[in-house]
Amino acid sequence: MEDEKNLPEENKEETKGNSTETKENGYEKFCQMCRRPESVVGKMMQLPNDFCVCNDCLQKTFDSINGGGFPYMEMLTLDPSMFRMGGDFMKMPKVKKKAKPAEQEKKEGEEAPVLDLKNLKPPHKIKAELDEYVIGQDHAKKVISVAVYNHYKRVADKSNIIELEKSNMLMLGPTGSGKTYLVKTLARLLNVPLAITDATTLTEAGYIGDDVESVLSKLLAAADNDVERAEHGIIFIDEIDKIAKKRNTNSRDVSGESVQQGLLKLLEGSEVEVPVGATNKNAMVPMTTINTKDILFICGGAFPDLEKVIKKRLNQTAMIGFGAELKDKYDEDKMLLSKVTVEDLREYGMIPEFLGRLPVIFSLQGLDKEQLIQVLKEPKNAILKQYEHLLSLDEVKLEFDEDALLAIAERALTKDTGARALRAILEEIMLDIMYEIPKDDAIGKVTITGDYVRGCGGPVIEMRGSDK
Ligand code: ADP
Repeated sequence: MEDEKNLPEENKEETKGNSTETKENGYEKFCQMCRRPESVVGKMMQLPNDFCVCNDCLQKTFDSINGGGFPYMEMLTLDPSMFRMGGDFMKMPKVKKKAKPAEQEKKEGEEAPVLDLKNLKPPHKIKAELDEYVIGQDHAKKVISVAVYNHYKRVADKSNIIELEKSNMLMLGPTGSGKTYLVKTLARLLNVPLAITDATTLTEAGYIGDDVESVLSKLLAAADNDVERAEHGIIFIDEIDKIAKKRNTNSRDVSGESVQQGLLKLLEGSEVEVPVGATNKNAMVPMTTINTKDILFICGGAFPDLEKVIKKRLNQTAMIGFGAELKDKYDEDKMLLSKVTVEDLREYGMIPEFLGRLPVIFSLQGLDKEQLIQVLKEPKNAILKQYEHLLSLDEVKLEFDEDALLAIAERALTKDTGARALRAILEEIMLDIMYEIPKDDAIGKVTITGDYVRGCGGPVIEMRGSDK
């Protein structure tokens, strides 16, 4: 009867009606968890050390384990390849696999296909939308709109009448001319996943650094591990000029020519095993297969000394014969980069096979003073609009006079980093204002003047109600 004393109130009732002394030794087994006897709960699970658990408690234990994050049940649905060398199930990300053709057919009636030829935006519409964000670079915007339109037309075309080739792109242009910005804006407008990677971090597989396939992992992550979405995404590889073939080197060029070689098969289109949720392959990471044939690759780079190569070629052809031109004719040519040819890029150190897989080559120009002023105020999310909005939250009106904009643009030009310099300059100018304004509730309007930007004057501050 000792046991009965320990029973919870609700269980005491139940035991009373049953004989608890039915066993040989006079005692009945009871569940060590809920303390109910065998006569009430039925046959129990006998564990070592005379530990008994009833079926109800056993079930509850399993339920709480599964609900608490132990993916016991999920393990049963995993890909067998994940079990290699004891994979780390606890951290395993979930991958949305591509639907099998049969499933796809079934789905088509219910859901719209990822890309529909009729719903593709035509190039002029893509460019018009880019115009709202990107200043200048008309030629580049036109080329990229057409190339992207053709690319997605090729992806959406299922007729198989003629095989359309991929239109990967190579974009040249000085720092801060809007290369990354253009691609980012494009991906947002098209609503496709985008992965941006830096070619300088890539090395040949097996060496310290990321191998080329890591760019696909980034794209997969950007597509929320949805393989089908990732396969229609865009990969932007920046600083591509940094993987030019090294000249006069006797050692193995693991971060130059080898990376170009490694990228070849991705650019061309191939099935690649990609680690999910990590950039490196190892036994602990699950893998999935991505086909790169419909992924649009855009490579970008500043190609610092390429202008010299172009100038040399142009001068050589111009100096031959009676029509010989002056040697310094191209010295001041701002459009030199747009005269680039595949031969110039080969001379620079890009291998022919690599260039062959980037059929669309175009360049962006460095921004001039007027364009920098436009960058400040015109795009939809222009930097000035951002600051004006920030101060409007304090109920203060912020204005920049024309001379201030000119002074900011002039200062940015001296830094030689294009539109990139604008943000840093504005941060510097606005620091004091952002610090002082919240101190005084009476301030209603601040006007930044050219003198303030040049450091020889202050901003014009107006108090609330002063204009009434
Ligand atoms: P890069 O050519 O070096 O890749 P980015 O595209 O990163 O330069 O430009 C840096 C920033 O400068 C962008 O985030 C964007 O705000 C601004 N910017 C650059 N070029 C333009 C442009 N043509 N129009 C509007 N903003 C620009």
